[in-house]
Amino acid sequence: MRKTVLFPFIHKNTDSERRAWHKKRSLILLLLFMFMLLSSCAQQAETEQFFCMDTLISITCYGSDASTQIASAKEELERLDALLDAEDPASELSALNRGEDVSEETLSLVNTALSYSEKTDGAFDITLRPASLLWGFSGENEPHIPDESDLAALRAVTGRDQIQNLSDLPEGMSLDLGGIAKGYASDRLADLLRDCGAQSAVISLGGNVRVLGTKPDGTPYTVGIRDPFSDSVAFSVDVADTSVITSGNYQRFFEENGVRYHHILDPETLCPAKSGLVSATVICENGTYADALSTALFVMGREKAETYYRNNGDFEMILIDDQNRVFSTPGVTLTDHSDGVFTYHEIS
Ligand code: AMP
Ligand code: MG
Repeated sequence: MRKTVLFPFIHKNTDSERRAWHKKRSLILLLLFMFMLLSSCAQQAETEQFFCMDTLISITCYGSDASTQIASAKEELERLDALLDAEDPASELSALNRGEDVSEETLSLVNTALSYSEKTDGAFDITLRPASLLWGFSGENEPHIPDESDLAALRAVTGRDQIQNLSDLPEGMSLDLGGIAKGYASDRLADLLRDCGAQSAVISLGGNVRVLGTKPDGTPYTVGIRDPFSDSVAFSVDVADTSVITSGNYQRFFEENGVRYHHILDPETLCPAKSGLVSATVICENGTYADALSTALFVMGREKAETYYRNNGDFEMILIDDQNRVFSTPGVTLTDHSDGVFTYHEIS
């Protein structure tokens, strides 16, 4: 009967066959070792930092394609900045503000932003640019406390209810995507990196962090949340495949007579929101939503933010108030780095 040899490489009868097998085995082991070494080198991190979207950007990718992936991400970010920067007269957003036609992408983000306005009962509002310009938080004006009458006059050109038709905004109205553009950009960059084959990456756009997957070794990423009262990290969270986005009163502000005036405006007063919060962090996969929401929760203040959380619950949040109290939702585990400066409270 004919014997079928299923595995010829382990079928060895003679000494020479055995010697050849040992040689082959050593070669296989050597190749395996080299492969393991290369694949551990392939997980080397590469980080690039640069300025874009008016903030410091940092992108980390891993492996042999890291530099190409980072270069594509940088190009995409510059494209989005050129589209969405209200301060740049050549941007599509400026074109929209002048009543000109713009791409589907820009219109779609503006519509998404308006839907978040609706969802947050107006706390998130992209029509506040005339007020930001008057305060000097954007544009050429020196930051200053405006005259009440000048502020009151802006009521006629602010407020999402005034928008009937995006291609024909009321005279004097001017949209600003500063509260959502970075989160949107982090989503687009995460999509792009994933399409380029990245399984693990960190995209940081100022206070907006998006992590792709876990670290290459399978452990979660640790994201630090800034102490709003100093330059240090207050506490950190361990996360995977999500966005961690913070709005704070320390990101852009001026001080007069010991009072801090910051860049997040309350749509009801057109003044810096006085909600008792100094920072609001949102954790959820959708960075566009997380960005809009962190701005909105900051405006709402703790009680309304908690109500919003209970009614929606599609995210996790961490709020810091002006009494050094930290309030977080049950899905968040915080590691304190503040040496007891903060007290921690769970939102239930
Ligand atoms: P963020 O850092 O994401 O909270 O965004 C703050 C930026 O959003 C400001 O610099 C303004 O450009 C814009 N902004 C200010 N107040 C609001 C608001 N209530 N809703 C939406 N955008 C706002
Ligand atoms: Mg925001």
